[in-house]
Amino acid sequence: LVSRMQGFGTTIFAEMTALAVRTGAINLGQGFPDSPGPQPMLERAAAAIQGGDNQYPPGPGVPELREAVCRQRAQRYGLAYDPDGEILVTVGATEAIAAAILALAGPGDEVVVFEPYYDSYAAMIALAGAVRRPVTLRPEGGRFTFDPDELRAAVGPRTRLILVNSPHNPMGTVFTRDELEVIAALCREHDLTAVTDEVYEYLTFDGVEHVPLACLEGMRERTVAISSAGKTFSVTGWKIGWVTAPAPYVRAVQTVKQFLTFTASAPYQRAVAYALENEMAWVAELRKSLEAKRDRLITGLEAAGFTAFRPQGTYFVQADIRPLGFADGMELARALPGRAGVVAIPSQVFYDHTEAGARFLRFAFCKQDHVIDEAVARLSRLR
Ligand code: PMP
Ligand code: GLN
Repeated sequence: LVSRMQGFGTTIFAEMTALAVRTGAINLGQGFPDSPGPQPMLERAAAAIQGGDNQYPPGPGVPELREAVCRQRAQRYGLAYDPDGEILVTVGATEAIAAAILALAGPGDEVVVFEPYYDSYAAMIALAGAVRRPVTLRPEGGRFTFDPDELRAAVGPRTRLILVNSPHNPMGTVFTRDELEVIAALCREHDLTAVTDEVYEYLTFDGVEHVPLACLEGMRERTVAISSAGKTFSVTGWKIGWVTAPAPYVRAVQTVKQFLTFTASAPYQRAVAYALENEMAWVAELRKSLEAKRDRLITGLEAAGFTAFRPQGTYFVQADIRPLGFADGMELARALPGRAGVVAIPSQVFYDHTEAGARFLRFAFCKQDHVIDEAVARLSRLR
C-alpha cells in the first residue's frame, strides 16, 4: 500500500452497500436514488452512443456542456464564467475534488474542513501530503453549524485551502449568508483558496436556497466550485461533474486531471448539457418529491424511537441513536442488517473527533415511498 494511503481501507459506502447486498437488507446507506432521471436526457445518452459519439472528447469537456454550465451559473447565481478556460468537466465531483486538492495543496500545507466531512476529502488531503484541520459542526437550534471562533482558530500560517460543502453531506446544513460571510472574511484576510463542493446545489428544502461562496465579495477570484450531474439529475452512475473557477485555477486542476483520466465520457456529457438547458422543471419536481420523502423518513424514524434532525438539503437524515439505548453508531450500523434488515451509514467515520459523531446514523431518503415505509417499519422493531 502506498504509504500516504495507510489507514484508508474500503470506503464506508462500499462496505455498507456490500453488507446490504449480502444480507438482503434495505439499503438506506449509500446515497443513490432508486428512480430514473429525466427520460429525454436518458434517451440523449443512448442516442449519442448509437450515433457514434464514442471517442475521446476534448480534455476540458465538450463545448456544449461547458457552455450550458456557464449559462446555468449565470442565470441561477449571477456568476459569469468563460466556457473556454473557466470550466473543466470531470469524472464526477469525486475527480474534481481529487484534482483540485492535488493541484492546490502540497506537503505540509494545511486544509481546513468541516467535520463530519465527505470521506474523499480526507483521502485526497493525505495523498497530497497535506494535513487536515477539522472544525466540528454541532447541533444548534435543530441544525448543525460551526463556532466562528473555532473556525478562526483552525486557520494558521500553513493554511492553504478551505473545503466548504454546502448543502452539507452528511449533516444536511445549507450555510446561510452570514455563515458564508464568516468563511469569506477568513479567506480574504488570510489569502486562502476555497474549494466548494456544491453537488446538492438543487436539493434544498423548505424554500432554503443554496448560495455559492463565489457570490460573496472578493470570493469569485479565490473559489474553485464543484458540481455534479449525478445528484441534480439522479444519475450517480454517469460520473459527470465540473469545476467552475478563474482560469489559473482551472489550468492547475486540469494539469492534474489530464493525468488522472484525461477526459470524461462523451455521450453522457452531451446528455447532461441537454438536461441543464431543458430539464430544470424536472429538477424542481425532484426537489419537491425529496422534501416529502425527507418528512416521511423523519416521521418514521421518530416513531421508531430515534431523535431525527431535519436537513435543509441533500439526501440524508441524521438520527441520534441514544434514545434507543445505543451509544456506538459503528457497532449499531454493523448489527442493523441482522437486527432490523436495514443498512445505514455510521456518521463517525467522517470525523477526526469520532466521539462527536458516535451517536449518529445517516439514513438516505432518496428512495421510493414504499421502501422508506418498509425500512421504518423494520426499524420500529429495534425497541
Ligand atoms: N461530494 C459530496 C458531498 C457527495 O455527497 C458526493 C457523492 N455524490 C460527491 C462529492 C461525489 O460526487 P460524484 O458522484 O459526482 O463523484
Ligand atoms: N455520495 C454518496 C453518499 O454520500 C456516495 C458516494 C460513494 O459511494 N462514494 O452516500
